[in-house]
Amino acid sequence: MKLIQLYGDRGLKIVKGEGQYVWDEYGKRYIDMHTGIGVAFLGHRNKTVIHYLQRQMNEIITLSNSFSTPIRDEMLDALDKVKPSAMDNVILLNSGTEAVEAALKTARKITGRKKIVAFKNAFHGRTSGALSVTWNKRYREPFEPLVSPVEFLNFNDINDLSKIDNNTAAVIVEPVQGESGVIPAKEEFMKALRETTEKVGALLIVDEVQAGFGRTGKIWAYQHYGITPDLVTAGKAIGGGFPVSALFLPDWIANKLEEGDHGSTYGGNPMAMAAVTAASKVLHEEKVHEQAYHKGELFMKILRDKLGDLKSVREIRGKGLMIGIDTRFPPSITLKVAQESGVLVLKAGATVIRLLPPYMITQEDMEEAANAIRQGLLKTESQRVSP
Ligand SMILES: *Cc1c(COP(=O)(O)O)cnc(C)c1O
Repeated sequence: MKLIQLYGDRGLKIVKGEGQYVWDEYGKRYIDMHTGIGVAFLGHRNKTVIHYLQRQMNEIITLSNSFSTPIRDEMLDALDKVKPSAMDNVILLNSGTEAVEAALKTARKITGRKKIVAFKNAFHGRTSGALSVTWNKRYREPFEPLVSPVEFLNFNDINDLSKIDNNTAAVIVEPVQGESGVIPAKEEFMKALRETTEKVGALLIVDEVQAGFGRTGKIWAYQHYGITPDLVTAGKAIGGGFPVSALFLPDWIANKLEEGDHGSTYGGNPMAMAAVTAASKVLHEEKVHEQAYHKGELFMKILRDKLGDLKSVREIRGKGLMIGIDTRFPPSITLKVAQESGVLVLKAGATVIRLLPPYMITQEDMEEAANAIRQGLLKTESQRVSP
């Protein structure tokens, strides 16, 4: 029996994780800035998450959403403290792409319109609806025609927003584009986008699957922009490592949804609710977003100090602990060298080294990582002819 390798194989067998570190089968330790593409933001085996999961396992593991159970009430209380403001409703699903599907379906039902607007370089997931609003042709084109009629506009280009018309059901946007290279939206752009969608009656879906839940230095990345979206998707970090995603909705939208409009067998199962409860408590009580902000500032400074002189580095950018190092080369050599020196990082887009560390990362970890990345970039430079 073989598992189909749909992701690049990093050639490592990881046997244990704790906090910001993982260990391979030979006992070698790695600083984890890959974190399963941001999932382990609260650290591996976060104690609160484990406590809640273990407790839940001893009570009930599976239950249809047709029945209530105490962890549901506990989760709703915990979410109250971290939810996007003005969004008192949540639908729980299992993966980021499912939260996006729920958002797109909701927008079409609420507006009665079909067209969806997305942005160039956006990534929203791999199921057919989410894929139809994902830009990368390599992922999307073999499966066309996809679901909704979609128009892709230039990200961060205010002039292009005039193409959002009153046939548009929704505009979906990542506040910081993750997969395509850690590209933050500009403030004027997000404000103009909010104004335009409001004017034409299209819903604004902010996809926070990667940027949300404290990662960028605010609980929700849209809070950097002083706007209020209509729908917010979340995933990756929100279960502290347990697979779960969410769609947040305000009353005026939630009130228009009826039984049967959406559903998912496992969505909001008791284990997922226990995980979200624990993760939300950690986020709130430890002010994880504030730590991510301060550590992100420090990390960017360390990276600029240690890498700023390299000719292969074009830009170091990001928000909080969502950081990208844009280089003049594909990052494969750097990823390999860093891994050999005990630092796991990942790529984004064609030329960006992406860092998504857990929030408990220390200054020492940051310095070690920056040194490892420097070695990788120096090797890259020495093996390539500069353009
Ligand atoms: C990862 C990601 C998704 C898809 O999440 P899955 O859990 O892989 O389905 C959707 N949107 C954004 C912004 C993401 O980063």
